[in-house]
Amino acid sequence: MPCRSNKELNTMVISAKECTAKGKVADYIPALGKANPHDLSIAIHFPDGECISAGDVQKKFTLQSVSKVISLALVLMDRGRGYVFERVGMEPTGDPFNSIAKLETMAPGKPLNPMINAGALVVTHMIKGTSVADRFHRLLSFIHELANDKTINLCEEVASSEFETAYLNRALCFFLKQHQIIDENVEELIDLYTKQCSIEMNCLNLARIGLVFAMDGRDPQSGRQIIPIDVARICKTFMVTCGMYNASGEFAIKIGIPAKSGVSGGIMGSVPGKFGIGIFGPALDEKGNSIAGIRLLELLSKTYKLSMF
Ligand code: GLN
Repeated sequence: MPCRSNKELNTMVISAKECTAKGKVADYIPALGKANPHDLSIAIHFPDGECISAGDVQKKFTLQSVSKVISLALVLMDRGRGYVFERVGMEPTGDPFNSIAKLETMAPGKPLNPMINAGALVVTHMIKGTSVADRFHRLLSFIHELANDKTINLCEEVASSEFETAYLNRALCFFLKQHQIIDENVEELIDLYTKQCSIEMNCLNLARIGLVFAMDGRDPQSGRQIIPIDVARICKTFMVTCGMYNASGEFAIKIGIPAKSGVSGGIMGSVPGKFGIGIFGPALDEKGNSIAGIRLLELLSKTYKLSMF
């Protein structure tokens, strides 16, 4: 990035904000419906510790589907890739994130990839631990390490709001259980998954996590390898092929940055070897991606020629 300027970033945020009017906040998880659709914030974290940002960067949001990349990294470290990819595939679906359709029509019960809900539920199922609380604690500690912030926790309100209304995710779990892809109690898995999705942070934290992936799993400050290189590479590849749901192809062509979005309006970006990006903009487009967040990434990618392709 040639110019590390808060001012330039701010100008881009103001410009990208215009499209928030065309988006809509997710409300199928009732607590998410309370977000302000006009919010937009961004942080960019560099390996030398510098961070530039614009918008209300202290505003917290829940990770939602962004957490799927992190749980995948943990599970690949817990179980190894052979075990993981026997249970979840590597191919994009072209369907919405919560679709159940291909679970029945493709290899029975095996979700096509870990970034759709069906695949993410299998990944969460594979998190090692003695209880839901222990598995959640392991995931949260991993996130503390990645973000270098031990204060990160879950938002109880969003967690219980999703737990109460996760009918479709429960249906996916029962389908997966029928096909012996998972073997745990569905309510326990939904409890852990909704807690995972409700982990709350600001875009500075998210940019720091994106940076660790951008740096092949290395902590930018201590130099410690938090995630094995190979695991970080697999995660970034999924971010490119499936990170923006069924808009991933268009996103790769227009923007060309490994990125993962969530229905809360968060987007984590990892520009390989260069920096991490955290964005929060809760107004979503029709595919469930932050409408202004995508616009902002488009501006950034064009201005600084960030596409990796
Ligand atoms: N918790 C959300 C769900 O399962 C995550 C989906 C998303 O962010 N796209 O519906």
